[in-house]
Amino acid sequence: MASPPPSEQPGAATAEADTISKVLIVMGAIGFARLITAMEAEAMPLVHNFKLDEAPADESIFPKDAPWIRYHGKYKSLHIDLVRPGKDIIFGVDSVGTVSAALLTYASIQTLKPDLIINAGTAGGFNAKGASVGDVYLASDVAFHDRRIPIPVFDTYGVGARKAFATPNLLNELNFKAGKLSTGDSLDMAPQDEEAIVSNDATVKDMEGAAVAYVADMFSTPAIFVKAVTDIVDGEKPTAEEFLMNLRAVTTTLELAVVKVVDFISGKHISDL
Ligand code: SAH
Repeated sequence: MASPPPSEQPGAATAEADTISKVLIVMGAIGFARLITAMEAEAMPLVHNFKLDEAPADESIFPKDAPWIRYHGKYKSLHIDLVRPGKDIIFGVDSVGTVSAALLTYASIQTLKPDLIINAGTAGGFNAKGASVGDVYLASDVAFHDRRIPIPVFDTYGVGARKAFATPNLLNELNFKAGKLSTGDSLDMAPQDEEAIVSNDATVKDMEGAAVAYVADMFSTPAIFVKAVTDIVDGEKPTAEEFLMNLRAVTTTLELAVVKVVDFISGKHISDL
């Protein structure tokens, strides 16, 4: 018989099926998007390294009114899609925050059916937890800090704590820091948010991560969170100022970190991460 003995088939089939082939990078609004020209976009380490092409508007997988942007390409054994929320249709600024992050993740999962999601973005870091500007964190856990619903069970639903997909080998190999990520829709930190962030035991604070995690979990898609620190929340400098000052340099750091992650992932099984 030409086909291999049945006993050898399941293992082979599983190994094949388990190898990661489709990676979806959900990029946080990376701040300088409003400055981006086509030439600048090509110079983005991620787009450049992976030789990604921007999907033309008339071939978009997204509804035509959505400002979401997708780059895609083949890199080693992987098909990579990189999506960004784009600019707010009314205000022309980056569509930061949980609402657009969740919608973008939802639409991308529905069409692209990725094996793994990498949510990459900038974040505030807590000095008290050992974070410095330019550090790259891999989040072990994510939760919200601005969804206060003081009714039994709704309270924990609001916090929405969940584990990121565990990647011990990746963490070991790439020397990132590990810490918990707390997400809310504000760049600043109100006292009640601060309380919740402490209770979430968070080292880094962003505006998208837990929203991406919620959608990824809903569709059983493993997700990891790579966050580079642009500002120190419990430091001396005003957050917005420090954020803008460090944004460009830290974005490059972030992108180079994501390149390393993708290199590590290539050719591996999801269980090898
Ligand atoms: N892009 C805008 C502002 C972005 S708001 C500009 O250029 O002015 C900050 C973005 O970076 C969000 O996407 C958020 O996820 C992340 N971020 C960085 N520092 C943060 C902090 N201290 N708190 C919350 N989010 C932060």
